[in-house]
Parts: sequence; structure tokens; C-alpha cells
Amino acid sequence: MPHDLPKAYDPTAIEDHWANYWVQENLFAVPTPTSSTPPVQNQGRDGQSPDAKSAFTILLPPPNVTGRLHMGHMLNQTEMDILTRWRRMSGRLALWVPGTDHAGIATQMMVERQLAEEGTSRQKLGREVFIERVWAWKRHYGGAILEQMKRLGVSVDWSREYFTMDERLSVAVREAFVRLYHQGLIYRGAYIVNWCPRCQTAISDLEVVHQEQKGHLWEIRYPVLGDGGKPTGEFVTVATTRPETMLGDTAVAIHPEDERYLHLHGKKLLLPLMNREIPIVVDPWVSREFGTGAVKVTPAHDPNDFAIGERHHLPSINIMDDQARINENGGPYAGLDRYVARKRIVADLEAQGLLAAVKDYTNNIGHCDRCKTVVEPRLSTQWFIAVNKEPNGGGDSMAEKARAAVRPDANGNKAIKFTPENYEKIYLNWMEDIHDWCISRQLWWGHRIPAWHCADCHKITVPQPGAKDDPKTCAHCGSNQITQETDVLDTWFSSGLLPVSVFGWPNFTSKTPGAPGLAHLETGEGIRESNNLGAPGPSHSGTGEGSKDRADAALSRPDFDAFYPTSLLVTGFDILFFWVARMIMMGCWFSKDIPMPDGSVRKLENSVPFKEVYIHALVLDANREKMSKVKGNVIDPIQVVKQYGTDATRFTLASMAAPGTNIAFNVARTEGYRAFANKIWNAARFIFMNIDRAAEAGIKVDPAVLGQMPTVSADAPLEARWIVAELHATAAKVNESLNNYRFDEAASTIYQFFWGSFCDWYLEIVKLRLDFEGKQVVNGTKVEILRDLEGTRAALVTLVSVFEAALRLLSPFMPFITEELWNAIYDSNPPASSIALTKFPQADTSCIDTESLIDMGFLQNLITAIRANRKDLNVEEKAIVDAEINALGGFRKVIDKNLAIIQRLARVNSVRHVDRFSDGLLKYSNPNFDVAVVYEKTIDISAERERLTKDIAKYEKGLASAERQLSNESFLQKAPPQVVEGLKKQEAETRLLLEKARAALNALPRE
Ligand SMILES: [Zn+2]
Ligand SMILES: [Zn+2]
Repeated sequence: MPHDLPKAYDPTAIEDHWANYWVQENLFAVPTPTSSTPPVQNQGRDGQSPDAKSAFTILLPPPNVTGRLHMGHMLNQTEMDILTRWRRMSGRLALWVPGTDHAGIATQMMVERQLAEEGTSRQKLGREVFIERVWAWKRHYGGAILEQMKRLGVSVDWSREYFTMDERLSVAVREAFVRLYHQGLIYRGAYIVNWCPRCQTAISDLEVVHQEQKGHLWEIRYPVLGDGGKPTGEFVTVATTRPETMLGDTAVAIHPEDERYLHLHGKKLLLPLMNREIPIVVDPWVSREFGTGAVKVTPAHDPNDFAIGERHHLPSINIMDDQARINENGGPYAGLDRYVARKRIVADLEAQGLLAAVKDYTNNIGHCDRCKTVVEPRLSTQWFIAVNKEPNGGGDSMAEKARAAVRPDANGNKAIKFTPENYEKIYLNWMEDIHDWCISRQLWWGHRIPAWHCADCHKITVPQPGAKDDPKTCAHCGSNQITQETDVLDTWFSSGLLPVSVFGWPNFTSKTPGAPGLAHLETGEGIRESNNLGAPGPSHSGTGEGSKDRADAALSRPDFDAFYPTSLLVTGFDILFFWVARMIMMGCWFSKDIPMPDGSVRKLENSVPFKEVYIHALVLDANREKMSKVKGNVIDPIQVVKQYGTDATRFTLASMAAPGTNIAFNVARTEGYRAFANKIWNAARFIFMNIDRAAEAGIKVDPAVLGQMPTVSADAPLEARWIVAELHATAAKVNESLNNYRFDEAASTIYQFFWGSFCDWYLEIVKLRLDFEGKQVVNGTKVEILRDLEGTRAALVTLVSVFEAALRLLSPFMPFITEELWNAIYDSNPPASSIALTKFPQADTSCIDTESLIDMGFLQNLITAIRANRKDLNVEEKAIVDAEINALGGFRKVIDKNLAIIQRLARVNSVRHVDRFSDGLLKYSNPNFDVAVVYEKTIDISAERERLTKDIAKYEKGLASAERQLSNESFLQKAPPQVVEGLKKQEAETRLLLEKARAALNALPRE
């Protein structure tokens, strides 16, 4: 039974191998269920198949197709992989769906940069050729991040990989748009948007980064006009940080009660440089305290001014083009860049004596998150979703449904649960205050809006729900002069649909083979509408019961039925509003009319896109600073992986991951966890060596005893009963920690078990039992060899089965090394294709033998005390000494029964029970025993006095703190009883130790 493991642990070699194997074997694929066979994953030897009802479904937040893996991804994916592997091993049908986002702005920018290097541009190529170029780019460079994920071994179903521009997902995007449009929830309107002159598109508020910048506040004097339009010689002074916008001013506003300007009500001003007459309007929004109390109004270039313009019916004059150059409305400044124009305008005003002052001013300036260009608020025509509006035919708005999904119902139940819980409030506050969602982007790369403009009647034609073909004629006047909208949809529109679209919506197929797809029937409304295709439908949200039944019978949606709602979303706070909120809006909206698998009406709890959201924290550098390219403190996870291995990197992140806690990533820890992996590797080599020696001695471990939770007979040696009890206790804790997203607790529990209990203690003790040669015993004149083969066999079985179970426990955290060692245990003839498809250890509380835990704890304390005692006396490492001990009654038996363990681990010979210690011995005290090593050496009295004095101070401090807590009434009321019990016990023990230390100090001879 050779279990050849290389001597040294080399993560790179084993990780590459298994990463390829998992992908090639399609190990984590979950096929679309058919009605007769529920989907199953490869199963362990027990042959139990997880049933589809208990699916654990999770979507990867799709990285940008242009993206490269960073530490945030690595944390996100480590957490998802741990949870998915754990659920899969715990018997759930675990499906993790990967994919990438087409990332409109980012991808278009990438290709535009390429074109610029080639001396061309997208405008020169034209839309169609440009889009072809982007696809070519995507095929060549796109999705590198998924290749990185493959190397990291994430247990996703690669057969379900999607791209948000895929045909089937694009169908869903189009269907969602047309349904919302015909429900009266999509409109087109003039609006001040954040315009990026570099990206040449509107960007959402969320994509604008505000930065404080030193700038100026320019005060400009506008001449007041008297009767007949003649300047009166009086001026109104306005202040602005963007003087160039004055070219588009259409009024100056003052507060109605501002006494300084009462005489100017109804008067006009002359707009300098443009020589245009503009009115003074009174508006209570104006603050009298700020500046001069007079505000220039530029409705086309400022959101507040836009609102004033609406109230006072002012014209909006757009003075800039798409690249923020002054356009033909800017008079003499037309054609100038905005900042060049600014300089020119300020100089001209000064020359005309109209510049009252220039003041330093710190301004909060919005920059494009993508390209860092200063955004320009600008009036433009955009498409919006009216998220607060009742749909045609009545019912709750999208925002209201999305609020209801998170708000507790009358019974306190929530359809979606957030961890950490405070994000519920953050989400709900945002949702309460949500504005209409601007969904159009002036890009070429993306889902082009399915709306057609008529050149004749100027009305808009949007296809009917379910219609596959583009309209050929105007739905209003019948003209064939229609052209498709050039804007594309916001990327979050398509990613917001993912939970429904990846599972087949709206392309549900007919249940009758060969019958045409009836996707549009699925809401039950399509039947009516399919008869009047092309006509603008007034209401599309009614539910005809009859048609619903027919739709039910006609459609099959196996993936949707099996996997929607998904179980969990793991994501960062930064996309809570961008993505999480939109998935909730879209998911609730489009799934609500899809019947449940049993035909019943879908309730809110089943129309949500996910049942739980786990928001993870940030990964910071070792000094708790945010990583940034500017600061140069970015840690590249791939580099860390190359140096220490994926397992150690994952374990580092897991060991610090707890809800709401940022992670200060320090490679020193990763180095430590690589040493942990090495420790396990060496333990495996030791075990395999003994399996082989056992085989030579005729002892075989039947592989059938592996793969479950080990048990042990009541008369087994203490260390066997103890390690099995520890394993069960560890499994219980790890399962509980993972249930609460306490990755840190789970990781540290496994670490303590593996390194502390298993390697440091159990392996050392079990060497006593692995006796293949036997002992020579002289019996009279005969020499006999005594061998306890049965005892050796039992010890070996416990050793191997505990190790095998511990590997399964560790597997979700360190999938590679555990896969390698697990396969080696079975000598490459394992009972399943992967350790990932075996059972996760579940505790049996009846196997947590408390007596063995107490007894072993006693022995550990005793051995540790003797070792410390030896060290203080400078006993040579190899020397074997005697010891005297005074232990509490019950523990004397434990000592006698386990003398061999104490002898071996503490390197002692005899252990004498005494009531009074021999003179001159250095005593070590514990609440349960006093012990002293018998060693011929004069005690250094002053050193001993120092040690005892230090101990006394430590005990006094501990005692005072315990007493303080135990006298704190409010602590006693709030703390769980077991905590209070523990504290009381600790107090009593410390008091005892203090007494013993004081007595020892008194007993020291005077110097
Ligand atoms: Zn930009
Ligand atoms: Zn028309």
C-alpha cells in the first residue's frame, strides 16, 4: 500500500493538477433537472442523493469581462466557495453559477484605446464594425478573470457560464424592457444627468466620485435694466464656481423675502457677454444667507437650477457639446473647451469691470469613476424607469415591492435576510428615497434599447411582450420610416435581471415536444396581446386566471423551478445599491407572475431573487489602509498564491473573515498558514508510513471504516476516546460557525484541532500504540516477544479515520491539499471522484465523551507543567527524571492509568504520589495538582522568588477583574448563564492558585 507523497509540500504542483482535474471532470456541474430525474451531483459511497428541493443556489457577482482578480474578488470567492463546498458536502444540491458582465463603459473604453493607438476611432469605424471589434476583443482578451478563478479551484458549474451579452440573456433584457414599457413604467424625459465628456455618456450618481478640490468662487455683476431696457447703473452680484455656465443663464433667482432685493421684483437683468435679457425670479429655495443671496439660474447645467427652471417655466439653454466644448449657443465662445472658455470669460468680465471678486473656495467636485474626468451636469434626453409609479392596471410600484421584500411582515418574517443585519436599514433607507432610475447610456457596446422612433409622427414604437421580431412600421401612423434608438441600456439593467434570466426566464419551453416556444404566455397576459401585435397595449399587468392555467400547462421551466429563488448572495457593500437593490426590484417584479412548480401562486417570499444576502467587508493592507494604486500598497492575490499557495491564501482570508469586520491582509499570516499546510502534510507522511509498516505486520485498515464520523469503544485508550470526542466537538462548532458566517471562528477551530489536538498531542501519544515490533520479555529462561496487534490495529483505525474526517472538515477551506491527501489515503482508488463530493463531518453529541475531555485536559496541564518545570531547572532535553505529584483524588487514577503517556511526553520515569513534597523541590501548581520534578540542582532562590512574585501579581489581577465582573449587576443579568458559571469557576481556581503561590513564597528559605 504505497502512499507516495513527495517529502516536501509544494502547493504549486498539487494545485495546478487538481484545478485542472475539477474543471475537466466537470465536477461541480448540476445539469438541468428533468421531471423524472431530480438532478444529482457525484455522490459519496453512501449513495444518498441530495434532492432538488434542497438546492443551495448562489450566483457569482459577475466580474467585468475586462477585469483582473483582486483581493476583493479573492475574499468574495473564498467565502462563496467555502459556503458552497460546505453546503454541497452537507447534502444540499449545490449550484454556483459563474459568468461575466459585458461592462459597457469599461469595455468600450478598452477597445477605444486600442483604436486610438491604431490611429482610428469608433466614429470612423461606425457602429456595426465597432461592435464587431469589441466582440473580437472579448473573444481574445475577455474573461481572463474566469481563467484565474479556474486556477483558484472555485467549485462553480462551468457548464452554466454566461456572458451578459449572450443571446439568451439579451432576450431577457429586451423582454424586461418591453414589459416595463407597456406597463407604463418606462418613459423618456429631459433630465440633468452626470455627463462624462471623456466617456461621452450619462453616468449614474453612483458612478460619480466626489473629491474636494481647491478652486475659486467668482463673483460676477449683472447690470439691472430699467424701463426701456436701459441699464440703471445698479448691479446684482452672483457667485459661481463654474463661470462658463453663465452663457446658459436664463434667470437670476432671489428669495421672496430678501429685503435687499425687494425693489427688484419683476425687473430684468442684462446677461453680460451674451447681452441677453434675463428675468429676476423669486423662489423660496434660494438661501438668503449664502453669498449675496442672488443665484444665477442655468437650468441646462445644474440639477437645482433645472428644478427652478421647471417651477418658473424658464427656457433651458444647453451650451456644451458631448465633449464639454462650448457649442453654438455660447456665442463668441463656441468651439472652446470648457476650461479654456472659463479663462476667456473671466478675463473678458474683468476687462468690462463686471468681475466683483475672486475668492478661494474648496469645492466638492464629481469625477467619473471610470476615467476620473470631471463630470458635467448637463441636460439631456434619457430613458427612465419610474420605480415609484403604480403600473398600468394598478398594484404596488417596483420600489414598494423591493421594500416589502426586506421589511419584516406582520409576523416579523423577512423574505430577504441581510447579514450583517444593519444593511437592512441602509437598504431600506435608500429604497425609501429612491429616484427614477436612468437606464440609458450613450454607448455603442451594450443592449441597444428596443424602441423605434418614427420620422413622420415622432412617436415611439416598442414591440409587444413576447414579440420576437423588430417592428417594421410605426405602431401609431404605420409609417415605415422608423429607426431604432441609438442608446444602450445601463449595464446594471442586465445584471439586475440575472437571477431570473440565468434560469431561463423568459425563454421557458413548451412541455409538448415539437410545439413552438410559448414564452410570452407565461405571465398569462400574452395571449390577449398576441392577437393585437403592433398596437400600443394600455395595460399589461392584469392576470387572467384562465390564461394563467393554460400558460401553466404549456410551459416547462425546470431550472427556474429548481433553482429560483437562489439561496444566498455574497457581495461587497460597494454594489449594494448598484446591483443588490436592482436585482431585488427586477427579481420580485418579473418572477411574481410565474407560478410555483406545484402550480400555486408565487408569494413574495418566493419571488425574491435570493433569500439571504451576506455583505462582506473590505480587504485592507497590513497597516489597515485601503489598498490603492496611487499609494502603491495593492496586494495582488495571484502573487500571494504563487508564493504561498492558494490554500494558505484562502485560509488567511477565512481566518479573518467575520461579518462587518475589515480584513488587514498580512502575508506573514499566509506564511503561517503555509506552515500549517506543511504540518498536515507531514502528519500524512507519518500516518502513511505507519499504514505501510502495519501492512508488513499483517494489519490492514479496511477503507470501509473511513468516510464517516469515527466512533470509539468505551474501553479504548484515553487518547482515542479524547481525539474522537474532540473531532465531534470541532465539527459541531465549525458547522455552527459557518451557519453564522463566522468564517474566522470556523477556521480557527479547525486550526486548533489539527495543529494543537491532532498533531501536537494525539500523534505524539499514538506512537505509543503503534508497536509493530513488540517487546522482548524474559520469562524465566525464555525470551518472548509480546505484541498487542489488536491494540495496534484499533489505534491505527482511529488514527486514520480521524485524519480522514479532519481532512473533510478542512476541505472547504483548503480544497487542494485535502484533495491530494484524501486521494493518497485511498491510494488513488477513492470512493468518490473528489473529497468535495463526500460528506461534511456532522457531530454526534453522544460521541462527545466529556470524561475523556476532562481527563485529557488534566494530563495536558500536567505534562505542560512538568515541561515548564524541567525548563526552569535547566534539565537536559534528553534526561529522564522522576516527579512527585499531589493531585486531587480522582485524578490520581488518571495518572496511574496513563502513566506511559506522561512518561513519554514529559520524559519522566516514576511519578510518585505524595502528600508532602521532598525538601528543596520546585513546585508547580494547578487547581487540580501540584507537581515537582526531582532533580539534583540547587534552586536559585531569588529567581524562584521573582517567579512566584510575578505569578502572585498575575493572579491578583485576574482575581480582581473576575470579582469586578461578578459584582456587576447588569453584567450578571445580561451574560449567558454558562459565561457566569465559567467566570465563577475561574475565580475559584485563581483564588486557589494565589493561595498556593503565597504559601510557596513564604516557604522559600531566606537568602
Ligand atoms: Zn468617464
Ligand atoms: Zn409614426
